[in-house]
Amino acid sequence: SASSESLPSSRQRPNSETKETANPAPSVVAPPLPSSESGTENEQDGLKEMLEEEIINSLRGVDKTAAKQIFAEIVVHGDEVHWDDIAGLESAKSSLKEAVVYPFLRPDLFRGLREPVRGMLLFGPPGTGKTMLARAVATESHSYFFSISASSLTSKYLGESEKLVRALFAVAKKLSPSIIFVDEIDSIMGSRNSEGENESSRRIKNEFLIQWSSLSSAAAGNNKDDAGDEDDERVLVLAATNLPWSIDEAARRRFVRRQYIPLPEPETRSVHLKRLLSHQKHTLTEEDFITLLTLTEGFSGSDITSLAKDAAMGPLRELGDKLLLTPTESIRSMALKDFQSSLNYIKPSVSQEGLERYEDWAAKFGSSG
Ligand code: ADP
Repeated sequence: SASSESLPSSRQRPNSETKETANPAPSVVAPPLPSSESGTENEQDGLKEMLEEEIINSLRGVDKTAAKQIFAEIVVHGDEVHWDDIAGLESAKSSLKEAVVYPFLRPDLFRGLREPVRGMLLFGPPGTGKTMLARAVATESHSYFFSISASSLTSKYLGESEKLVRALFAVAKKLSPSIIFVDEIDSIMGSRNSEGENESSRRIKNEFLIQWSSLSSAAAGNNKDDAGDEDDERVLVLAATNLPWSIDEAARRRFVRRQYIPLPEPETRSVHLKRLLSHQKHTLTEEDFITLLTLTEGFSGSDITSLAKDAAMGPLRELGDKLLLTPTESIRSMALKDFQSSLNYIKPSVSQEGLERYEDWAAKFGSSG
């Protein structure tokens, strides 16, 4: 009677040539429903709503409006990112697999000494793929993905933020295995004495730390007082920051793994550039690519993306208004010169001194590997 299908295949992605998730709104990614092949979208939506309703009603001591908000805005649906979409970062990928993905997929193997960590921090210069990595982890580990941007938490939900934090953790536990991803963690976990800290952000931070601790004690395995579940609560707090040094020490310690996401190496930039150009008519030779690699020293992944996008406009720009009447096939291919002229104004977003600061912090506080 069993169907031949074991795991839902997350490899099916209908229209996913380019994945630009520059600034995803706060959201939650739901793992594909096992029955995703049957049922219309409407039916599935209805089913989802019923499930949400049921989950919300089953939570005790949690504000219902806040819980609804979690489902509406904090759970990310769709737009999957896979490991292969991310150029390079091999050591970060294997570290995330070991710390998160394998434990989520094979909980039986990761017990006792192999108990997975409850907190992992991705830090490094902006635009290096931290958010993409987090989303890939969610896709590849088939877990629910709760994505909150700290700034949206602090501004938008003023006064309601603590309720939202409580609801977030409650729903994440209920739907475990799940990942709570906090982008810009520094803005809620800033150092206690920093001048900017006001009463409300202090309260959010405390609530977050309390909720997070409650996870860890359940994870330690002894007397879980939560009713019922046989399964371990597999909830991971995954966070990203461009400003690791401004994170409060108590919070920093809770991130047992601190993974440095550096600027891309030349080979990574090459892979990234070639991938970006793979759907575009161009005349770049192998030699041109080598020239480009020297010219893009110090560029982050998103700097490379911006550069390629700008360079792609080159052939159109020179047409001016004639563009409107030119047939597609008569538009010239992209060439090295397009990159060279874009390089006049697209500059790396991290300076050398900025970079040194990251490397110092990585040497002091980063997890090796
Ligand atoms: P971060 O979170 O580190 O600031 P993101 O993950 O949001 O950076 O990346 C921003 C954009 O830059 C991505 O949407 C993608 O277009 C591009 N990008 C950055 N790093 C990579 C990478 N390693 N591979 C592919 N694209 C990348």
